[in-house]
Amino acid sequence: MRSLTLWRTLLGVDKTVVEDLNLDPVAGVLVASVRPTGSARHRCGVCLKRCPRYDRGAGRRRWRALDAGTIQVYLEADSSRVSCREHGVIVAAVPWARHQAGHTHHFDSQVAWLATQTSKAAVTVLMRIAWRTVGAIITRVWADTEKLHDPFAGLTRIGIDEISYKRGRKFLTVVVDHDSGRLVWAAPGQDKATLGTFFDALGAERSALITHVSADGAAWIASVVAARCPNAVRCADPFHVVKWATEALDEVRKAAWTEARKQARLNESRTVGRPVHDAQARPHSE
Ligand SMILES: [Zn+2]
Repeated sequence: MRSLTLWRTLLGVDKTVVEDLNLDPVAGVLVASVRPTGSARHRCGVCLKRCPRYDRGAGRRRWRALDAGTIQVYLEADSSRVSCREHGVIVAAVPWARHQAGHTHHFDSQVAWLATQTSKAAVTVLMRIAWRTVGAIITRVWADTEKLHDPFAGLTRIGIDEISYKRGRKFLTVVVDHDSGRLVWAAPGQDKATLGTFFDALGAERSALITHVSADGAAWIASVVAARCPNAVRCADPFHVVKWATEALDEVRKAAWTEARKQARLNESRTVGRPVHDAQARPHSE
């Protein structure tokens, strides 16, 4: 019994009783049989309200937990259903995982954190999950995070830009907060309508609090900002200023190079027929 309590700590589960622990010889994984503690039982999967038990649902099911060393670990429990006044007959909540998720909270958190630090391909190899699973986990973790955090709170100085993907064939419009340095919004597309949906989400009241907007010289950004952010000063962002200056310098360099070559050819044609020592002695500036 003491070792099962120890496993409860190792699995990092809360409001959960570990009943048993077995190696599944077929799948080659460690399976911990668990159940929610009394207070966590018979709760609606959506609103978490305590409800009357309805039936056994689909019977026993498994949730992937974080690995124990090299071996994969699963939690196994009944997936009984309850009858919620608001949500009807629904699978009961479990304290170790999100509603209808196939992975524990800790597993979800690790995948979501890894997704912010490394490539999706690396996450699939390290966590031994499918490509699509990474996406599904990011979506559900973000849905919960979004409820706790307002990315538009205190937004006053923003940057708007577009980035391309699929080798320049598709675009994302992105908005960053210059004060926090964070990305606050992104959506597929590169036009007035796309940027308009950002200001729709921000709302007229908060749009009026924007004091500075940096962007490249794109007319579609300038016109939307002028219409939706009446109090904002529009600025050219340093990246584009440097880019424009570099491009201008490049044009001057090319023009100077072309001119120099033209002059060199002219000098060459003038010296044809003259003695070699004479041609070599002539200064280039002539
Ligand atoms: Zn409910």
